[in-house]
Amino acid sequence: MISFEEAYKIVLDQASTLPVEKVEMMDALGRVLAEDIIADMDMPPFDKAAVDGYACRFEDINSPMEVIEIISAGKAPLKLIEKGQCSKIMTGAMLPEGADSVLMVEDTESSPGNRIRFIKNKSQKNICYRGEDIKPGDKLIDKGTLLQPQHIAVLATIGVVNPLVHRQARVGIFSTGDELVEPQDTPALSKIRNSNAYQLIAQVRKAGAIPLYYGIAPDDPGYLLEKINLTIENNDIVLLTGGVSMGDFDFVPEVLKDAGFDILFKSIAIQPGKPTVFGKKKDHFLFGLPGNPVSSFVLFEILVKPFIMRLMGCFAESPRLILPMGVDYRRKQSFRKSLIPVRILDGQLFPIEYHGSAHINAYTAAGGIIAIETGETLLKKGEPVRVRQV
Ligand code: AMP
Ligand code: MG
Repeated sequence: MISFEEAYKIVLDQASTLPVEKVEMMDALGRVLAEDIIADMDMPPFDKAAVDGYACRFEDINSPMEVIEIISAGKAPLKLIEKGQCSKIMTGAMLPEGADSVLMVEDTESSPGNRIRFIKNKSQKNICYRGEDIKPGDKLIDKGTLLQPQHIAVLATIGVVNPLVHRQARVGIFSTGDELVEPQDTPALSKIRNSNAYQLIAQVRKAGAIPLYYGIAPDDPGYLLEKINLTIENNDIVLLTGGVSMGDFDFVPEVLKDAGFDILFKSIAIQPGKPTVFGKKKDHFLFGLPGNPVSSFVLFEILVKPFIMRLMGCFAESPRLILPMGVDYRRKQSFRKSLIPVRILDGQLFPIEYHGSAHINAYTAAGGIIAIETGETLLKKGEPVRVRQV
């Protein structure tokens, strides 16, 4: 058995990034950039009005000014502003030559002879200057960024309609266990519904990879071998659950050997999730996760997801919060690292009542997962603790 930190290192050391491809900007959300995005233009591209109002010369604002033009957004101004003149201008419209400020329409009133008058004591310039946000050559988004909606806006702004991104990982998923039926079926006595596969499909999709489902394999070495061979052929990663621990019908580790896998580890000093297998065959990988739904959920979040993200070119750790414990948390044994679901309330952490690895509905109330390290038995109220949001 190895520590979680060792297992994490073994897994991440195996990750080499997948090839790149161009995608439509509209499909780039959740993909990882494989190129730096560099600006080739100014933004804004011209000096523009930041408010609706009157473009004028700042030195003239204490006398009434003649309105010589109305400039809407998207129209180039036709007239030069000279002494005592102004143009009515809309937010986003191009500033006319000669003007050096825009009076807000709320700060003016009309005056006889097509004029306006400034009625306040102070005014800002209310101009967004050419290039103040973006200049040609600026690096706007780094290679390796997981694209969020705000990044899509930047791509659109500078016209990168086909960004270069890493290919999505293909992840084949199946469950093992003679006790399993599919969710649409009513379980007979001694059977339960397969929840793990659907949980993993959702987790893989949320991580931005492509899940493919291969059904349920019975606890039979022959069927298992067939299923593993079929799944590995068409995917970068295989995720299976169940059959990885010490029971009489836990055949996964021996079948992996028959299938030609290198087994890099098959047990981690962690609770939940101890019987976790990681294997490799050429450039394909397999995680055998424990059958208990909490174990497979947690192990995906802390081990499989970082691996998938690296394959897809994203090396950033997912952000963690550091928050104080809202109550004391104690445990009796401390020979394994233990992961605990928590509620986050008013910026404090409250462990959720949790009956162990099968208790997945405890996680529907969880805002995060905290860890208590090997050798430690107490997290004290008020103690700052790192929390991974889920
Ligand atoms: P195993 O790891 O195969 O020994 O399974 C451990 C526990 O998880 C057992 O109680 C199984 O019935 C349960 N389990 C296994 N696979 C699934 C699954 N796909 N969905 C829900 N529970 C499962
Ligand atoms: Mg089983």
